[in-house]
Amino acid sequence: MTTLLIKNAYIVTMDDHQREIPEGGLFIRNGIIERVGLTRDLPQTADEVLDLNGHIVLPGLVNTHHHFYQTLTRAVPAAQDANLFNWLKTLYPIWARLTPDDIFISTQTALAELALSGCTTASDHLYLFPNGSKLDDEIAAASEIGVRLQASRGSMSLGESKGGLPPDSVVDTEENILKDSQRLIEKYHDAKPGAMTQIVLAPCSPFSVTSDLMKQSAKLAREYGVHLHTHLAETEDEEKFCMQMFGHRPVGYMQSVDWVGSDVWFARGLGQR
Ligand SMILES: [Zn+2]
Repeated sequence: MTTLLIKNAYIVTMDDHQREIPEGGLFIRNGIIERVGLTRDLPQTADEVLDLNGHIVLPGLVNTHHHFYQTLTRAVPAAQDANLFNWLKTLYPIWARLTPDDIFISTQTALAELALSGCTTASDHLYLFPNGSKLDDEIAAASEIGVRLQASRGSMSLGESKGGLPPDSVVDTEENILKDSQRLIEKYHDAKPGAMTQIVLAPCSPFSVTSDLMKQSAKLAREYGVHLHTHLAETEDEEKFCMQMFGHRPVGYMQSVDWVGSDVWFARGLGQR
């Protein structure tokens, strides 16, 4: 058991009253904040004491959607002015050449940027695993930085030859995806409050994933109590795709594959009229 006392800081809370506490402090036990208040009202001793006189202390920010690997390709000129589908088609062949080292380095770059902006929990959506890359590369890189990670095991199973958007070279079989998802949950998922690593199942988007994989992923996630995440309602192109391919608009499609509930969150959600 370890304790940490932060004292003499200017504490800005995000509680119901948006309290700001000059001469404030925190008492932390085993990484969990136990008390927030005036320094003089807190326990005066701890295993470690930080005097933060002249500093402001804010709650950590939480990032709910990121693609760490894209930090390596965000300045590709041909993709800059494209709409979503053309942007993806320009970048898929470049992403297909990523290596496990690239996943590791991009994770550390992205997490360092996030940490510098005050983020203490980040959710990353990794859905390409070219050239032997694994979500394990990202988890190993994150553990060296120390930001809390929601590592999403993304996936793509609907390649061009089956009517999807991505080239077949960056998609995988449903069987491999589900097997690897189960392996990652069993190896890394920590369900305890304050866990540093949690696994999320995250098939990429309606235009890159089969309906069967959506249903199977939801079933697997619920067996283990892990959360579900995907892109949804990003653009009108996607809405047209969903109508043609599945006979539903994006949210209706999610209902049809059992993807609506308190254990699901969506990225974007802009395209619904
Ligand atoms: Zn995204």
